[in-house]
Amino acid sequence: MAFKNEYLAKVYDKVCARNPGETEFLQAVEEVLESLEPVVEKDKSYETNGIIDRIVEPERFIQFRVSWVDDNGNVQVNRGFRCQFNSAIGPYKGGLRLHPSVCASVIKFLGFEQIFKNSLTGLPMGGGKGGSDFDPKGKSDGEVMRFCQSFMTELSKHIGADTDVPAGDIGTGAREIGYMFGQYKRLRNEFTGVLTGKGLSYGGSLARTEATGYGVCYFTEEMMKCMKNESFEGKTVVISGSGNVAIYATQKATELGGKVVALSDSNGYVYDKNGINLDVVKQIKEVERGRIKEYCDRVEGAEYHEGCSGIWTIPCDIALPCATQNELDGDAAATLIKNGVIAVAEGANMPSTPDAIEKFLEAGVMFGPAKAANAGGVATSGLEMSQNSERLSWTFEEVDAKLKDIMVNIFHNSYNASKDYDHEGNLVVGANIAGFLKVADAMKWQGVSY
Ligand code: NDP
Repeated sequence: MAFKNEYLAKVYDKVCARNPGETEFLQAVEEVLESLEPVVEKDKSYETNGIIDRIVEPERFIQFRVSWVDDNGNVQVNRGFRCQFNSAIGPYKGGLRLHPSVCASVIKFLGFEQIFKNSLTGLPMGGGKGGSDFDPKGKSDGEVMRFCQSFMTELSKHIGADTDVPAGDIGTGAREIGYMFGQYKRLRNEFTGVLTGKGLSYGGSLARTEATGYGVCYFTEEMMKCMKNESFEGKTVVISGSGNVAIYATQKATELGGKVVALSDSNGYVYDKNGINLDVVKQIKEVERGRIKEYCDRVEGAEYHEGCSGIWTIPCDIALPCATQNELDGDAAATLIKNGVIAVAEGANMPSTPDAIEKFLEAGVMFGPAKAANAGGVATSGLEMSQNSERLSWTFEEVDAKLKDIMVNIFHNSYNASKDYDHEGNLVVGANIAGFLKVADAMKWQGVSY
């Protein structure tokens, strides 16, 4: 990409030189800077205040050794990370990913995206992300517990309820958050809202588990209603993944009148022309921690196909990629378009490649980018922080209503920003600009050195 604006070109060159080989991070920075071109052109103060130079550099990046002992008595060593990217509008906030693919580039890309996403929610949260290359898959509960405790022993030195509040992400669910919270409390002798995604018995919020999946659907419903007077009613929906986000997106899409016909995991996908039976999926994934393939042993007429990318060949009206980054490429986008897709909204972070996004936008497909469409998870984490501060618990209905309002507002703020900057309907540009403006304003007010 060649930036027309010289300031942005200079900053991007420096990011490339400073972060060689960090492809995911560079991809995320390039997309955001590209969207900010009209903003930087219009107002030179972003350049004179060095806002872009600063926003692309994490305030702090922590990497540490995590050693633990497996069930056979062998010492294992993993690498832990926490990227505290930007605290201009609130304490750092963002999940912890446990997956073998975790590296500095992945954590930085996620932390960078989180700055704008958190700003879009309208809540006072800065951007951060963390995790480890530890793979919880196939590990015993005892091994997961020992890893989580060792991970938190170091992480606890850097986080706190008013400093940095991590949450779940891929591989980090209620079990892992529980072990980490227990260790933090043991080490610090304090009971504070230092993590979100906690269990309900010790400070968690109702509706947090459902929030990202529900939020994607609330966003998609509003986008379809306002942009093309459409809705989920009677639509065929394809959702990738079968983890937390995919499961609750399936539930809400179905409640809103859609028929979800496919789900996947990293090995393959299932197609059920009668509509996915979510009780079966929940039993396999949430209770038994099994593979999506097992769905076909339990539901008559369902088909299993090896290879996860094939899921995008299934004709659908609405596609919700809810698995992982770069899972939907240009070819997959072309196939979806050929098959008549009308709306795509990203439940996962950066699931569509730049080529895929370009194709959707060119074809006039309504496209909800991750930082807007999947912000419901972190928004509800923000609501969990509020409840912890008040030492109160809100009802499911209260939290869900607030979540819905937030998602509707995110759509309108992104749409309005796209209009204000001459890209009406391009929500990639709109979300990046709307998220950026608030953070940049706070950075200007706070001065250069803080
Ligand atoms: P989970 O670990 O619960 O689930 C991830 C799912 O994606 C698993 O079913 C996994 O299968 C599957 N998967 C991984 N790689 C692929 C692939 N290449 N193709 C198809 N399926 C694949 O994670 P979450 O549901 O929590 O997170 C999913 C995405 O949503 C991530 O990008 C995350 O960052 C994002 N997100 C999550 C939020 C949350 O609140 N949980 C909030 C905002 C964003 P397998 O078991 O084979 O690995």
